[in-house]
Amino acid sequence: MYGSLQGRYREHIMAHHLSEQLLLKTLLPKDISQSKGGWAKRDGAKPRTSSSKYYTTPDILPVPKRAKLTLNTGEDIQSSTDVENSSNPTSKGSKPATEVDALWTCKPTEVVVAVVRHAEEKHNFTLRHREFQSLRPDELIIGEVMECYIRGILNLKDNAGRLYLLDHYTMGVILHGTREQIARQELKKVTFDLYDGAIGFVNIRNVHWKFVYLHALSNHIYVVDPLQGSNEVEDSRKAAYKFGEYFKMRRNRLGKEDWVSIKWQPGKITHTFQKDATSCGAFVMQMAKMTVKEFPKIPKTFHIKSSQHLRRDMAEEILRGSVSKDDFCSFCGIEDLPTTAVDAVWIQCETCGRWFHTQCLGMPAARIPKKNTPWYCVLCILTN
Ligand SMILES: [Zn+2]
Ligand SMILES: [Zn+2]
Repeated sequence: MYGSLQGRYREHIMAHHLSEQLLLKTLLPKDISQSKGGWAKRDGAKPRTSSSKYYTTPDILPVPKRAKLTLNTGEDIQSSTDVENSSNPTSKGSKPATEVDALWTCKPTEVVVAVVRHAEEKHNFTLRHREFQSLRPDELIIGEVMECYIRGILNLKDNAGRLYLLDHYTMGVILHGTREQIARQELKKVTFDLYDGAIGFVNIRNVHWKFVYLHALSNHIYVVDPLQGSNEVEDSRKAAYKFGEYFKMRRNRLGKEDWVSIKWQPGKITHTFQKDATSCGAFVMQMAKMTVKEFPKIPKTFHIKSSQHLRRDMAEEILRGSVSKDDFCSFCGIEDLPTTAVDAVWIQCETCGRWFHTQCLGMPAARIPKKNTPWYCVLCILTN
């Protein structure tokens, strides 16, 4: 049987012959913070293996094209005319100029638009179209997008292996959870002594993000609030206490001594402030980027200028940091055929070149398009 929600979800799709229209339905909670269930699902993704993704396929299947295709940005693509968000970067009726524009102006789907590798962990980060759209101007950026971005930044930096990226769910529990909740976030497999620091961010009442930096080399903890007016030294002092207790809990429960002897001190990094209600996520992403860049030094100040281009630039960075879309299923984000169905095959969208497991789309063999019959994914159907 399946050991993950992802597997069970796929099984459900197959059992009921559900169509690829499922990609239009919301799989994830709407709040910007991630639920525990979401993490369980994410954990279900498999790491890349050396085995081939192709099985022997029936004759009727289209021949897979391995050439990298990019989203067609030519004259034939119209931006969606029924997008309600007035803050969309492209005005109604104009043509999307880039892949980011195309993804931002299209109706939200559950298509996986980026897969960012994680060298040390068993799973990659997968980012869905709906999540990616939270990067649009004036929207609250959801935690997955921020984590995906920071992981991509860490992947580019040589010594970033010495910085641990603490997920925002665990960060929230450590800083604001009850003893019982904290005890369930042991991070059993992590040995913090292998790291010189940890970065992450924490959600405040589901409407705000603060950046958190543990600099183990100097015993300092920084809680940085993009919004003006909070007492950051006091926040950092509380965090220092909470993390001290957290590492003691791990010693008591797991016998792990890592980082338990550190006497955490509150620290302060000066910074510019967000000028609107929604830029906290973008600020935190920039703070993380600057921290990674300076690491192992501590940044003296975070000088962040919120501009129209900032979110777009970061959206492009996420897409650039992703595994090529030739290499993963755009439904489940997995890079190999699921091992549970021997008749599973891949199908490629004629327009954007994204690949899907027919199994993930709930597409029975009889409905798989015949050879030379083009097939279009839901994203391209909505974009055109
Ligand atoms: Zn799949
Ligand atoms: Zn497509």
